[in-house]
Amino acid sequence: MSRFLSPTLEAVTPYTPGEQPQDQQYIKLNTNESPYRPSPAVVAAVSEAEVEKLRLYSDPACAELLRTAAAHFNLQPDQIMPGNGSDENLFFALRAFCDEAHPLAYADITYGCYGVWCGLMHIPSHIIPLKDDFTLDPADYYGLNETIVIANPNAPTGLALPRSAIEGILKANPDNVVIVDEAYVDFGGESCIPLIDQYENLLVIQTFSKSRQLAGARLGLAMGNAKLIADLNRVKFSLNPYNINRLTLKAGKAALEDTAYFEKTCAAIVETRSWTKQQLEARGFTVLDSRTNFLFASTGKKGGGELYRKLKEKGVLVRHFDAPRITDWLRITIGTPEDMEALLRALDEILEG
Ligand code: PMP
Repeated sequence: MSRFLSPTLEAVTPYTPGEQPQDQQYIKLNTNESPYRPSPAVVAAVSEAEVEKLRLYSDPACAELLRTAAAHFNLQPDQIMPGNGSDENLFFALRAFCDEAHPLAYADITYGCYGVWCGLMHIPSHIIPLKDDFTLDPADYYGLNETIVIANPNAPTGLALPRSAIEGILKANPDNVVIVDEAYVDFGGESCIPLIDQYENLLVIQTFSKSRQLAGARLGLAMGNAKLIADLNRVKFSLNPYNINRLTLKAGKAALEDTAYFEKTCAAIVETRSWTKQQLEARGFTVLDSRTNFLFASTGKKGGGELYRKLKEKGVLVRHFDAPRITDWLRITIGTPEDMEALLRALDEILEG
């Protein structure tokens, strides 16, 4: 760091994203991307004509995408805000609803960025441990005088709460915003979008990075009561009014419209997940009941880090988190059936060796 860095930033530990190696081709099961290419409709939508228009700014209101999203999710356009990935919308929400005097409550363990953003914005973190079996007790979140964020399904565990459990938390916190991060909901979770008209304190965050094959385009949607969305727009228009670029606006619209492709690829991942879970269990792994496009698995031996390294040597990238509670666990993204066969072959070689 330079000698000019603000001392308030010195204390912030930035997030370490999963590796995006540029050196060689890996079987890449480490950052929960889709193994499938974007819908052919997306490829067609990002046309040369749109590339030509890149000299012009994108629509700050994202009107065309909002109309499509509203029709798709059965909401009004003013109940939705696109973000540059769900990361940006989550950041906007924390900026809008938390500050030094208004903490954020979230689980340990969950998505690592929540804590990083708290550090960046001087928001006190209220960290609530998951139970020993990694499940979340909704009652731990009742009657908090704090903004709440819950990843549902959670990462990296993959476990999901039913919509009724989130509804209990919403009811028990009428004066606080409850952010439900649904990054993985399309792989078997229950979305809270149907609750939006009933609960003015509900903000649902979804992403195009996992189930819509657009991680590299950076697009997410925040959905909630129109007043909450106006609050998020207040942050966006104070920071980065053109947050969604032209190509992503077109790609996102096309991805939303191609429901058949979305359903086909989600179903393929769910099927591959269930096969892979059985295969891992047959090899002695403990595997949690995932509702996501990844599996959280443990050998039961304190060897997650070593297994990660040996898999990487064999060209298979998975995710290992250096946190004491989950040190013997690996998070494995669901790829194609061929990817998962290669993973299992590599594991067999390592475990036999
Ligand atoms: N929430 C959760 C729980 C995640 O795991 C991720 C991605 N790793 C995100 C949000 C951010 O996704 P994106 O910014 O790509 O939409």
